[in-house]
Amino acid sequence: MKYISTRGNSPAKTFTEILLGGLAPDGGLYLPEQYPQVTRAELDVWRKLSYADLAFAVLSKFATDIPADDLKAIISKTYTAEVYSNGRADSDAADITPLRKLADGVFILELSNGPTLAFKDMAMQLLGNLFEYALGKQHAELNILGATSGDTGSAAEYAMRGKRGIRVFMLSPDGKMSAFQRAQMYSLQDPNIFNIAITGMFDDAQDMVKAVSNDHAFKAKYKIGTVNSINWARVSAQIVYYFKGYFAATKSNDEQVAFSVPSGNFGNICAGHIARMMGLPIGQLILATNENDVLDEFFRTGVYRPRGTDHTYETSSPSMDISKASNFERFVFDLVGRDGAKVREFWGKVDAPKVGNPLSGKPDAELTPGGSFDIRDTGYWHALSQFHFSSGKSSHQNRLSTIREVWEEYGVMIDTHTADGLKVGLEQRRPSLPLICLETALPTKFAETIQEALGRKPERPAALEGIEYLPQRCEVMDADVVKLKAFIAANVPQ
Ligand SMILES: *Cc1c(COP(=O)(O)O)cnc(C)c1O
Repeated sequence: MKYISTRGNSPAKTFTEILLGGLAPDGGLYLPEQYPQVTRAELDVWRKLSYADLAFAVLSKFATDIPADDLKAIISKTYTAEVYSNGRADSDAADITPLRKLADGVFILELSNGPTLAFKDMAMQLLGNLFEYALGKQHAELNILGATSGDTGSAAEYAMRGKRGIRVFMLSPDGKMSAFQRAQMYSLQDPNIFNIAITGMFDDAQDMVKAVSNDHAFKAKYKIGTVNSINWARVSAQIVYYFKGYFAATKSNDEQVAFSVPSGNFGNICAGHIARMMGLPIGQLILATNENDVLDEFFRTGVYRPRGTDHTYETSSPSMDISKASNFERFVFDLVGRDGAKVREFWGKVDAPKVGNPLSGKPDAELTPGGSFDIRDTGYWHALSQFHFSSGKSSHQNRLSTIREVWEEYGVMIDTHTADGLKVGLEQRRPSLPLICLETALPTKFAETIQEALGRKPERPAALEGIEYLPQRCEVMDADVVKLKAFIAANVPQ
């Protein structure tokens, strides 16, 4: 299996060749040359597999350049009951992703029982083991540098802690995260994890990461890398639970289902799209956004119009506060019949600077990217229907009332992101299809909004009780790139 770029101008590579990198050299994202097809006979066999065996069956179609025994070993140490038992006490940890029935034909697929209580652990834990394996083979090292406002950074740290050949330098805004989030990250005592609290905002931390990454000599000397959401291995790991959820919600492979997915960067639902392209009987993929509704706008109107950070709202489902969906390009590549030139044309429009009113006298530096593309008057608008997407959005009030209804009717507490997915899923589903809502985090991560909705605090998994009182390890630093480089240099043996 070879991987090609969505922009059509990069040489084809293998799974391990793209594992540690980011974008393709032409600025595109990698996708398989062709999607592997799953036969009916395979589906019948897969239906009976454990999570780890299913993950091996799916991923061996993608990671074809990793010897089968090695891949099997990596997967079986990743998807264990031990790693995925951190969540609710009543969940069946051996299932890894238990399916919870709310009502006839309405299910929640639990994806948040990993160490950081969010679905990002499903892929990130595998990534940690794949990175360690690949670096070990190459006798190489990698220093992961990132900025986080909470979720992704902690998932990366829990995936990479104690891994040979890997260090993590994670910047976070000092004093801006919740006490729980701080404790989750800063209480890690592993010598390969470096938490750096920047006296500034998240954007300052992000700018420092960009500045270091743009210093190509420093980046090469200190082997700096990232773990962002466009990583292909992360997307491929997420394909597995669509199969698992389908088998758990149905009795035979003749049935179709709908999935509803709380979306931000389009990574999670992109995996669902690929599962469907492989032959999983998905009748409907329902995309849910919060008030940041760029993706909902596209599926309703055919116009993709990303917004800048100044037009991105801070909401009570903060992990979906994204107005530029990095993985969306992967879907558009398929939509336009895998025509890299068309993708280049579309993203040329998206990335073109919007020239403001020349009379306003704003200096050039304030010109912001504000481009868009529009498929309404093209054949692509018609083609879109064959991918079976529906979409909708949810507001703070919708979130509160959904959390309340699910609690009152079923005695189940869901988090704010999952509530967005459930609200839109119930609205958009075709009634004939069982609806599987993907749970993307546990409510304890967003206790404030749960308190507002229910007047009570969410339960916290026993393993994380009192985490705020553990000793913390963290370097406090000014938003100063020179200091950051000196800190990295001092902690990476040459
Ligand atoms: C990352 C995240 C999302 C959005 O997922 P994408 O793959 O970016 O679409 C939704 N909910 C939670 C809790 C998340 O952490």
